[in-house]
Amino acid sequence: MYQIPRRPQPHTGTKNTEIRSLVKNYTSNSELQNISLSHPKLPPFPPWTSTSDFIDLSIYDLFFGKANTPETVYRSLYQEKINHLNQFTKILTDGSIFNGSRGCAIIVNDDIYRFKLPNSFSIFSCKAFAILGSLNITAQLDLDNVAIFSDLKSVIEALKNFNSPDSIIQQCQSKIINLNLSKKVKVIWIPSHEGITGNELADREAKEATTSGIDLTHQLPTTTADFKKTTKKHIYDKWNTRWSNGLSHLHKSRKNIYEPRPHKQRRMNQCAIIRLRIGHTKFSNGHLLTKSTPKTCPACNEPASVSHAIESCSELNQLRLQYKIPNQLQNTLNDERHCLQLIKMLKSLELNY
Ligand SMILES: [Zn+2]
Repeated sequence: MYQIPRRPQPHTGTKNTEIRSLVKNYTSNSELQNISLSHPKLPPFPPWTSTSDFIDLSIYDLFFGKANTPETVYRSLYQEKINHLNQFTKILTDGSIFNGSRGCAIIVNDDIYRFKLPNSFSIFSCKAFAILGSLNITAQLDLDNVAIFSDLKSVIEALKNFNSPDSIIQQCQSKIINLNLSKKVKVIWIPSHEGITGNELADREAKEATTSGIDLTHQLPTTTADFKKTTKKHIYDKWNTRWSNGLSHLHKSRKNIYEPRPHKQRRMNQCAIIRLRIGHTKFSNGHLLTKSTPKTCPACNEPASVSHAIESCSELNQLRLQYKIPNQLQNTLNDERHCLQLIKMLKSLELNY
């Protein structure tokens, strides 16, 4: 008789509880708890609002990348742009992450404004905040026509998107639209490269701001995107510390969690590499499942194991040389090419992995 399948019950097992408590433990950090989150609002302008008046990516459109464009070309493009803007006050901006601290600098004529920003800010937010600061200064000093320069294209592109959930970008858009009612405000992309004097100065000042800028570290809310990145980094760092202090089989083959994983291999090889890394292979542990006698090394008759095949067995020295496998467990298992060679060697020994 047909039975109605039962709805899957939520997991309440010990493993799930353990994971939950780990996540709670990993995120219960004073640094994370002190972060105040910004609340993105609905964009105040319809998505079809035109940005062509205030966004200028013309130098980028003529730019073929650092490697393909001679320094003189973008320097002259920049100079040409400056010459066209002789009626505008030029504001150079930059953001920086230096020695783990964040800052941004705004240069208006001969005045330099430096701000030290929260540690949760990404480079995107640092540079976006520099534009926001420039707009505030424009309003406060009642400057007429203003050209704000930034070297991060993604920030300028974001300013074109009226659906952006980023609260700093939303504030910039709102201010630009309002300022443009009575004056002209342009945001212009310039290449970040040596050779453009103002840009170099902004870069140096932004680095300086990470230590000596006006401290805004406790006053500015963090965007949701930056909070996610900070939390992820924090969890990864804690995981890595736990990993480095661990004694698992996997730790023997992977020094840290940041090393790339075997993902380009065929699935069969991926499985084999993972089995070799954790030390649980058919030839070393298969007898536990089949209740047969443990396998021995075909070269010396000692009990067969992954570490025996890679390190301990002196009878296999010649074969390891032939397959170019280093006599060290970590070096072999950390390197996918060595792992594949090891698989070939085990095949030749008729050891089923
Ligand atoms: Zn042996």
